Amino acid sequence: MFELIKQSKDENVLFDKFLNLEKNCKDKSTLEVAQKIVNLAITNLKERKSLLKSIKYYQTMKNIAKIVETQYELKYILPIIGEMIDGLIEDHLVYIFLKNAHKKEYKLAWPTRCISGEIQNNLLKITSKGKPVIDDKTGVFPLMCDEKVLGAIVAHNHFEKLNKQEELMLLEISKQVSLTISTAMKNGKILKDATLDALTGINNRRQFEIRLKQEIATAKRQNSSLCAIMMDIDHFKSVNDTYGHAVGDLVLKNVSKIIQKEIREYDIASRYGGEEFSIILPYTEKEEAAKVAQRLRAAVEKKKIDISDFNIEGVDEISVTISLGVNEFDKAEEDPSILYKNADKALYIAKETGRNKVVVYKGE
Ligand code: GH3
Ligand code: MG
Ligand code: MG
Repeated sequence: MFELIKQSKDENVLFDKFLNLEKNCKDKSTLEVAQKIVNLAITNLKERKSLLKSIKYYQTMKNIAKIVETQYELKYILPIIGEMIDGLIEDHLVYIFLKNAHKKEYKLAWPTRCISGEIQNNLLKITSKGKPVIDDKTGVFPLMCDEKVLGAIVAHNHFEKLNKQEELMLLEISKQVSLTISTAMKNGKILKDATLDALTGINNRRQFEIRLKQEIATAKRQNSSLCAIMMDIDHFKSVNDTYGHAVGDLVLKNVSKIIQKEIREYDIASRYGGEEFSIILPYTEKEEAAKVAQRLRAAVEKKKIDISDFNIEGVDEISVTISLGVNEFDKAEEDPSILYKNADKALYIAKETGRNKVVVYKGE
């Protein structure tokens, strides 16, 4: 009996085993003792599960609060939050909706699909008071900022209501997510107006666009050559998925450090978006730019990124590869964006033809 209890990590299994014993054991007093032991074991198991869930909950709350230290784009933040909540609320499907301020409707922000059509009706019951709307299948927890509804976290299960512990957790989580989203939106505005990317410290996209126009004007005026390199980390999603987004962020920082080390002082490196970087190379022809690109590719491939601080069992370091597209400025071209758009086309070919490589744009 004791062996049976020690081995069981699930109260249903324990209960089934007891029923089995009841069937086969004819001694009443033995059964009574066994029943007490099983009851106690089931209570312990339940408490242990609830404790583990509480620990996970506090970790989730802490992580949701921390995201804004390095991120401000909702399209990146919401999937991370969604996955964290999904890991906590096991028996329900979790969704995050954002309210479209103009159309007064709710749009699914995470994950990519919502199979239940009824959820929209529940969302429409949200009032400006921001109170949760809970029924037998669905819990809707509004996301609020300054008394305005930003969206909602939804937990849905066709057959089961949320339990009290989950309800309380989701209520507190929705408050924290509201705070995270409103901070991200405020930071996003400040950072958009600034010039540097918050995570990597190199130029942001806005600054890239300003510098691109300036360098194109100079190249035209001086009749000098100018190139652009677009690069993208290969299979970066699987780095996030395997080791967590904090490791992903560290990879981004490392890659941007390598770029800064490898390029010349007057080359302009920027974080173009997510895991994409761009480099403007003034006074450079495409053969030279291709060499820079190859050097970068090799340097990133060689780099062992130390992730021992993250305590991931059996993995102390990881490496990634990048794909790159190179394009030289065509002085007859009026539209400045064509320079990097064509570099991007070359990058796409690099991806399509195997990754971890450099492709130079050769025209349509
Ligand atoms: P491919 O080789 O085709 O480029 O595949 P990929 O996985 O790199 O490309 P995909 O576009 O599918 O995924 C890019 C991922 O980059 C998804 C997104 O979550 C992640 N990402 C974007 N910005 C950040 C960030 O700031 N930090 C972290 N950790 N991940 C980010
Ligand atoms: Mg990409
Ligand atoms: Mg990528």
